[in-house]
Amino acid sequence: MITDIVSTNELTKIDPVFGQLSFDNHEQVVFCNDKDTGLKAIIGIHNTVLGPALGGTRMWKYNSEWEALNDVLRLSRGMTFKAAITGLNLGGGKAVIIGDAKTEKTPELMTKFGEFVHSLSGRYITAEDVGMETADMDLVRTVTPFVTGISEEKGGAGNPSPITAYGVFMGMKAASKYAFGTDILEDRTIYVEGIGNVGEALVENLTNEGAKVYIVDINQERLQYVSEKYNVEIYNGSNLFAEEMDIYAPCALGATINDDTIHQLNAKVVAGAANNQLANEQKHGMMLSQKGIVYAPDFLINAGGIINVYAELENYGRHEIIRKTENIYNTTLEILQNAETNDVTTHQAAFDIAQSRIDARKKEK
Ligand code: NAD
Repeated sequence: MITDIVSTNELTKIDPVFGQLSFDNHEQVVFCNDKDTGLKAIIGIHNTVLGPALGGTRMWKYNSEWEALNDVLRLSRGMTFKAAITGLNLGGGKAVIIGDAKTEKTPELMTKFGEFVHSLSGRYITAEDVGMETADMDLVRTVTPFVTGISEEKGGAGNPSPITAYGVFMGMKAASKYAFGTDILEDRTIYVEGIGNVGEALVENLTNEGAKVYIVDINQERLQYVSEKYNVEIYNGSNLFAEEMDIYAPCALGATINDDTIHQLNAKVVAGAANNQLANEQKHGMMLSQKGIVYAPDFLINAGGIINVYAELENYGRHEIIRKTENIYNTTLEILQNAETNDVTTHQAAFDIAQSRIDARKKEK
C-alpha cells in the first residue's frame, strides 16, 4: 500500500504504468482516444472483488498526461476502499478526461466517452466527479446503461453532491465529538477549501448549525455567490494553513495535506470531501496523528455520493440513502476509537477494515 503524489519529473523516471507508485495492483487501465471529438480519457479499474468498479469521471486541465494518470490511479484505488468500508458490493474505479470542463466539454465528447464506458460491458460504472454535471451523465446514459448519477426526471437519484456533503457533515460531527467531546458545531471556526458542488452544500449544513465558516476557492465568482447566499466570510489571506481554526475541511482537489502544508496546519480536526487528502497516506497520516490533529479519513466520510448512486443500482429509496449516510457518524467514531486502541493512524484503521472485507470476499470466491 504505497501512494504518494510525485512531481512530473520524478514520474518520468519510473515505469509508465505498472511501475507508478499509485498503480497498486490495478486490474485494468484503459486509455481512450478519439480524434474527432478531442477526447482523451483514462479509466482505472482498481479492484472488482466486491462488485463492478464504480467511480466518477473527473474532467480537469492536467499539466501533463502523467499527472492525469497518477490522479486516476489514486482516485480509483480510493474508490475500492470507500465502497468496502461503506459495506457496498462495489469495486473501485474512476475515470479522468483531460481538458478544461468549462471550454472543452461538448455533448459529442461526453457521448464518445460513454461509448468507451459501454465497451467495458459493466466492469466500470461511471458517475459525476469534478467538472461533471448531472446533465453530462444523462448524455452518457444515451449510449450506455453503465452510468449512475443521472437526473431524477430520467429515473436516477440525481446530483449526489448534497448527500456527499451530508455524509461529510456527519463525519465531521463524529470527529468533533472525539476531539472536543461534543458534536455541536455552533461557533466552531471551520475553513472550507473548495466551494463547488459538495463544498457549497457543506457550507449550508454548517451555517444551519451556526458554525463560523470561512470559504476559500480559486473561483472568485463562486466565492462571491456562496458568501452572499449563506452569509459567510471569504478568506482573503494568502495561507489558510497558518490560520488558527477548529476544523479544516478540504473540498477541492486532493493532496492538500503534504510536506509543505502539514507543518503549518493549525487545526484540531481535518474532515472534508476531497478524495486523497493526504499526499502520502502513511507519512502524512502519522504526522497528523503526532500533531494531535484528528483526521476523519476522506474515503470514509465522503461516501454519501456513492451511497446515493448505489441506490440507482440496488433500487433503494431516499429513506435508505439518508440512513446509510447518517451511519457515517457511527463508523467514523468507531474508527477513531479503534485507531487509538490499536495505536495506528485513523487512515490505517479505516483502510484495514476495508481491506479485510475485500480479503474475506476473495476467500469466499
Ligand atoms: P466541484 O468541481 O463542483 O468543486 C470543486 C471546487 O474546488 C471548485 O469550486 C474549484 O474552483 C475549487 N478548487 C479547485 N482547485 C482549488 C484550489 N487549489 N484551491 C481552492 N479551491 C479549488 O467538485 P465537487 O463535486 O464539489 O467535489 C469536490 C471534491 O470532493 C473532489 O475532490 C471530489 O473528488 C470529492 N468528492 C465529490 C463527490 C461528489 O458527490 N461530488 C463525492 C465524493 C468525493
